[in-house]
Formats: sequence, structure tokens, C-alpha cells
Amino acid sequence: MTTNIAGHEFQREILRRAAAENVVSHAYLFSGPDGVGKRLVALEFAGVVNCTSGGGSPSECGCGSCRKVEKGIHPDVAMVEFAGVRNIKVDQVRDEIEEKLYLKPFEGRFKVVIVDEAEKLNNSAQNAFLKTLEEPPPASIIILVTSRPGALLPTIRSRCQPLNFGALPERYIADVLAEKAGLPPDEAGLYARISSGSLGAALRLDAETMEWRRELLSALGGMSAGSASDIVSLAEQLSESASGDQARLDLAFRFISLWLRDIAFLKIGSGDLSNVDMKDELAALAEGIDVASLMERQRQVEKTWYDIVRANANTRLALENLFIKLARKQGGGPAPSGNPDRRHANIGDRA
Ligand SMILES: [Zn+2]
Repeated sequence: MTTNIAGHEFQREILRRAAAENVVSHAYLFSGPDGVGKRLVALEFAGVVNCTSGGGSPSECGCGSCRKVEKGIHPDVAMVEFAGVRNIKVDQVRDEIEEKLYLKPFEGRFKVVIVDEAEKLNNSAQNAFLKTLEEPPPASIIILVTSRPGALLPTIRSRCQPLNFGALPERYIADVLAEKAGLPPDEAGLYARISSGSLGAALRLDAETMEWRRELLSALGGMSAGSASDIVSLAEQLSESASGDQARLDLAFRFISLWLRDIAFLKIGSGDLSNVDMKDELAALAEGIDVASLMERQRQVEKTWYDIVRANANTRLALENLFIKLARKQGGGPAPSGNPDRRHANIGDRA
């Protein structure tokens, strides 16, 4: 379970030392992109603090405690996951997290509770959880794992020792994809770029998803601010395909965000694109838009994600509003319609 952790040597060394010198913190906040191995490092740490033979890595140490952590059956180590749940509520914090934390360790030195996707804790759940963070039970360690630390209250963040995890090298991801999924090098490289250093995200991609990305981004790129029907129908399609499937919605937001970043990169003359297969389209879009308005659009994408996922806004309406902003011609007027040569002007024609 904890095998094959790639990289993050610095973070793992900090944690190993804390365990060895007996200065572990009661609460940690592991943040960084999805799929880079934060959970695996958290599990490794849970193993190290409970190891009965000197605190090795569970995947290498053969002691009974490490073997249990490795198999996911250690009674003092809990991985709390809320798959398919958008908002973790107060009673779930009590039942799923605190109950586990307040039990004395059965056989290890520490009770370790890892809360994955901690950004899903809603505000009242976070407030309720604050008390536990302020006065944690003895011999307990809480590890909040998140790709969106900004969604946690500052009071929560300030009570945790932060540990940031960076993206994995693209080369490494491409190699794993070529090896595990048997992808040809070109495709493996593209998948790696689209995944922004997240092995987990890269492994979830497939040909169908990549095609969906192309269609979504091409539709956005070709969308004219004057064409309300295009905007409405794209919002409808996306909200339908993402209905009840938050992973799909998150993916769409990530694709849109990378797409805007690519356009900005072309704008400033950087060739470091994610969507390398769409370079010509992106270059056309980069004409006539400035970086500031691309950043404003990027902000709108973040905000819309937040509105839908955290504030429970109506998905289709929120997407419509977003697409109107993405398509809007700078200056506010409607983009010229009916002229195919100006199809891409919508993304930010300054004229
Ligand atoms: Zn051990």
C-alpha cells in the first residue's frame, strides 16, 4: 500500500526526523496537487511513528506494525475518505473522524487519522473540528490531506503544521504511463502534460476522456459571445455529463484552467504548453487577448468551481454564467457573429 512513493524526499525526511526525535505534531496539513502521492506519504508516516523496529519505511521494514500499515489493517491507523460526497457535515466529522481519534491506541504509539480531501469539510464541520485541533487527544495525529488548502478556514490551517507537495516530474509520469498503460511515447507525453504532475490524474485519463477534452475546449474556443444558444447548449451538455459525477466536473474545470494557462503562455512567448496537440487553435486564440484578461478569466473559473462544489450553486446556470464570461468580447460588446474568420475573436478581441 505504501510502496512506490515517487519523490517527495524532502517532505518524507522531515517526517522521519520528527518521528525519530519524538517531536511529531498533533496535526498536519498535507497540500499539493491531486494524485502526487500525499496520501501515500501520510500512510508511510503513520507507519513510521508506529514502527516497532526503529521507524523504517513500512514498505521496507518487516515488523508486524509496518506489515499491518502496509496491508491497511493497522487498528490505530485510519484513512477517512468521503468518496462521492461534496460536503462533509458536522455529524460526519464526529462519527468518522473524532470517534476514531478519541480511542486510545490499541497497539501502536499513536492513533493516526488521515482525512483525505479535507477541503470537503463544510464551514460548520470545520468550526466543529477546530475544538479537536485545539485540544487534540493525547497520542493522536491528524493529517488533513487536500489539493485545495484555500478551501480550509485560516483557523484550521494555522493549527496544522503545513507540508506542501509539489508536482511529479513529467518525464517520470510519462515513463510510468508507457510502462503501466503501454501508451506510445507521444501519447504518454501528452497525458503527462495534461496531468500537471499528478500521476493519479494521468492514470485516470483514456482516449475517450482526451477526445472529450478536445471537444470541450474547441467548443469553448469557437464560442461567440453573440451566440447565446452555443453557450446554453455547452453548459447543458457539460452539466449533464457531470451530473452526479464530481470527478468529471473537476476534470472539466482543470481542462479549462489549463487551456487558459496555455493561451497565456503563448501570449508571453512560452512554449511550455499542456495541450500540445491543440497548439494552432491556442495560438489563434492568443491573438488579440491580453494576459490580464486571461487571468481574470482564470479567476472566474476558480470562483465558478467554488460556487458549484462548495456553495451548491445550480451547475448549469453557473456554467452558463462562466461561459458567457469566457466568451465575452473584451469591452463588453457582442462579438461579431456569422463571420467564420472571426470565430476565435470571442476569447478576447481587444478591438
Ligand atoms: Zn516497522
